[in-house]
Amino acid sequence: MGKLFLVGMGPGNPEHMTLAAEAAILQSDVLCGYTVYLQLLGDRYPDKETYTTPMRQELERCRWAVDRAAEGKTVAMLCSGDAGIYGMAGPVLELSKDRNVEVEAVPGITAAVSGAAVLGAPLMNDFCVISLSDLLTPWETIEKRLRCAAMGDFSLVLYNPRSRKRPEHLTRACDILLEYRSPDTVCGWVRNIGREGQEAHVTTLMELRRAEVDMFTTVFVGSAATREIAGRMVTPRGYQL
Ligand code: SAH
Repeated sequence: MGKLFLVGMGPGNPEHMTLAAEAAILQSDVLCGYTVYLQLLGDRYPDKETYTTPMRQELERCRWAVDRAAEGKTVAMLCSGDAGIYGMAGPVLELSKDRNVEVEAVPGITAAVSGAAVLGAPLMNDFCVISLSDLLTPWETIEKRLRCAAMGDFSLVLYNPRSRKRPEHLTRACDILLEYRSPDTVCGWVRNIGREGQEAHVTTLMELRRAEVDMFTTVFVGSAATREIAGRMVTPRGYQL
């Protein structure tokens, strides 16, 4: 029986990868993943066979990984952050049912968690995670979720905030949130978390509309209680200090 590890690599720097993730990689014959993420691993595992596909060819990569594992190889499917959060864990588990493959998930630090640490403590209370990518989810559904989160006064983490094909998504999302939230709501965004060129900004919901974010950015929108404290984004836990 072959083995397939679903490995969350964390945001990109080796310090934020778990020991279990590293052990799964060392145990594997083949590493496969999105070209950019495998490049991040650099030359650390030179004797491993690698298989990369660019974006949009994720399913082909999953099928390839399941087929190799079914042949008896040990395969690591590498995802940034956590494999079970907008990653490949779901499709791999679906494709490997009825195959002679043991699948083991190795959790990783997702961008919400690594980005929050850079900004301060924006997720101290209840929060929602929403992806603004409408490649696999209809935009109407995304709008509905944004409205519900805004109504519930959750802090929000927005993944896939903007890309060349969808330059207006973040602005549209902000406009929906502005129907429920103050323009001064404390917001933040972090680009290239744990990677070269990491940059973080604390801003307001109004300013976020026009922020220069891209697909390597994770966006944070505070709840009504979130404050900027000494340049950090902090959502009070509720303690009386
Ligand atoms: N599985 C990943 C998410 C993949 S979706 C995870 O758990 O983190 C891709 C989106 O994740 C990006 O558009 C961005 O919003 C966010 N993201 C992932 N890694 C990031 C990083 N190092 N820096 C900033 N944002 C990141």
